[in-house]
Amino acid sequence: MTAGVFRQEAVLVARSVPCDHREHRRVLAHCSSFCSDSTSIGVNTGFSTNGGEKARNARSAGPVACVRDVAFSYTLSMHDASSNASDGRLSLPDSVTPGKIDWVYLVPIVVIHALALLVFVPAFFSWTGVAVMLASVFVFGQGITLCYHRLLTHRCAKVPKWFERCLVIVALCSLEDTPGRWVATHRFHHAHSDENPDPHSPLVNFLWAHVGWLFIYNPATHNIGTYQKYARDVLEDPFYLKLEKSTIWVWIYVAHAAIYFAVGLIQSVELGLSLLVWGVFVRTVVVWHITWSVNSFTHMFGYANYGAGDHSRNNWLVALLASGEGWHNNHHHDPASASNQHRWWEIDVTYYLILGLGAIGLATDITPPRHKRIALSMELKQPIDASLGVAVAAVLEPHAVAAAASEESAIA
Ligand SMILES: [Zn+2]
Ligand SMILES: [Zn+2]
Repeated sequence: MTAGVFRQEAVLVARSVPCDHREHRRVLAHCSSFCSDSTSIGVNTGFSTNGGEKARNARSAGPVACVRDVAFSYTLSMHDASSNASDGRLSLPDSVTPGKIDWVYLVPIVVIHALALLVFVPAFFSWTGVAVMLASVFVFGQGITLCYHRLLTHRCAKVPKWFERCLVIVALCSLEDTPGRWVATHRFHHAHSDENPDPHSPLVNFLWAHVGWLFIYNPATHNIGTYQKYARDVLEDPFYLKLEKSTIWVWIYVAHAAIYFAVGLIQSVELGLSLLVWGVFVRTVVVWHITWSVNSFTHMFGYANYGAGDHSRNNWLVALLASGEGWHNNHHHDPASASNQHRWWEIDVTYYLILGLGAIGLATDITPPRHKRIALSMELKQPIDASLGVAVAAVLEPHAVAAAASEESAIA
């Protein structure tokens, strides 16, 4: 297929207004076995972006799928959220049978919440416990936001494999599922955001989006076909695959709880128990609710910078608690980007952490925001792909291209 045909397809797709978001997302999901729904324009211009090796492999294999992916992604972003056909309420996902309890999730969630109630027993209180809890919320929260979400799901940067696995162990201490399942579920959410197969849309109701979806068995998200489709790249790692096939993750959680207790025990039994209650049980519950708030609050309350084709919103409170994840409308607009910060005051602590890792050499290939990717793709001016990149950009980001062109003519 020639670049001319690519360009034609991109234009046709970009002009397909009004579009069927469902169809677009199906294509995005189809293209996402290696790049999620977040393949950037850089993939077809030779600029290294998310996906690491996979993106590079895709580039060498041919950019067709990713060109379409880019076009569909941009087409989605061109529409105002208010035009989404799913403005009304949603029923439960078709795959869900009401009343079919998923005990594997329900039991630990109820038990850990019950144990966290020990916080009201004065004997377990200590200011050290409170301080350890607050610090642990940030550290173990990063296991989810930095590792599971930005690194594994969206591949917004590359880190050494040993470091990535360490981060996965940190994430497992939050008891939020194994990496393969978490990534598959989240990519599934992006592919069907606020439409019927979305596993946790608040358009069903707030409680469903926040925690209810975990209590009811959903065969659409919990099956090997979904894992293969949405998280194949993750499960290629033998360690992550082993986590799926064993109960190691349970023992990792138990072991880290024992370490908290043992550290406190150095001083006294009381402090050991305080660290266990505050640093493990309370902290686990807090991190759970912060993560769940991204699914519930940020698809209901807040403002939208973009029409991302769904009900995603930017919510400052969730952004504050979840280290930048609350800028969820920005994220749905540009999921490939390492940064959710699109305005100077939209503070994104996780992005700063990624930049910090980059500064000490632990993170490379950090994916910049979309407008910078487009600018870089235009600068590269590679023989075939650059012309395509400019063509796609011209259709989909006309303001950026016009600004670049006027800047170029001014220099000339
Ligand atoms: Zn979302
Ligand atoms: Zn995401």
